[in-house]
Amino acid sequence: MSQSVAFIGLGAMGYRMAAHLPKHFDTVYVWNRNFEKAKQHAIAYGTKAASLEQAVQADIIFSCLPTSSDVEALINDVQIKSGAIWIDCTSGVPDSARTLASSLKQLNVDFLDAPVSGQTVGAENATLTVMVGGDVAAFERALPALQAVGQLIKHVGESGAGFAVKAVNNMLLAVNLWSVAEGFSALKAHGVSLNEALECINASSGKSLVTETIFPQRVLSREFPVTFGLPLLAKDTGIALDLVHQAKLPAPLLSLTQSLIQAANLTAEDNSDFSAAVKMYEAWTRITLE
Ligand code: NDP
Repeated sequence: MSQSVAFIGLGAMGYRMAAHLPKHFDTVYVWNRNFEKAKQHAIAYGTKAASLEQAVQADIIFSCLPTSSDVEALINDVQIKSGAIWIDCTSGVPDSARTLASSLKQLNVDFLDAPVSGQTVGAENATLTVMVGGDVAAFERALPALQAVGQLIKHVGESGAGFAVKAVNNMLLAVNLWSVAEGFSALKAHGVSLNEALECINASSGKSLVTETIFPQRVLSREFPVTFGLPLLAKDTGIALDLVHQAKLPAPLLSLTQSLIQAANLTAEDNSDFSAAVKMYEAWTRITLE
């Protein structure tokens, strides 16, 4: 495609997502705070390592940073090309998406909140789920670029709706992770083999992504590979709980889960994977899930 595209933020997700863009676009700029990563990406995938000023002159600009505050700080610092679409794949804050969408509209720039799900393996294989909030016409214009990185791509509502869906999704992941840790500790305390139990549960109604992949591959294996940081999950459960509070709803289970994940994050070793949240429960019970 003759449109130019840029990708800002070559982290665990961004590095892999940006790798697909040269298959679909002639000009792909990449920028990263630690610029060595951008240079490395250019060599590996045929993208162009660019200054931030140059990257924001692209027709379509992707970002994938840890938080909405990081995205806001960056956007406030640059002059984006008029007519561009900014696709923010950060798992961000709905209020921030609404503010950015309306302030960028004044500059004739469309902002879409387009967080992704599917972990680093989904980014690698371009099989991510993308949940998009914002203007429908901008979504339709952005679709070919989104299709380069995702499989299920859904417009879910106005600005902020994408971020909201993502936050609730990750809260559900956290609820699952914690509940599986409790259930499996009880099984181990009763002398049940966890691998056999897992096989049964994965053919039964209690199964989830946590029982199917997270527990066997990360927890029971004791590998806890760092692909999605625990601080990021703690951020997401916080965003989800803010949504509940803003709607003035009771949410005892979600409130408790957010506190547990927050506490696990505070007590975890630096640079822990989200799955390492179960280690806090293991410390309470003195049962190791292996
Ligand atoms: P990483 O921590 O791996 O990468 C973060 C990226 O953002 C790096 O490129 C980093 O640059 C850059 N960055 C951090 N702070 C700033 C800043 N203040 N200004 C400019 N650049 C900055 O994060 P992930 O890729 O794992 O996550 C990115 C987003 O995607 C998060 O919102 C996360 O919740 C979400 N997400 C993550 C998934 C996963 O499995 N990892 C799955 C789905 C969503 P530098 O290299 O210089 O540090």
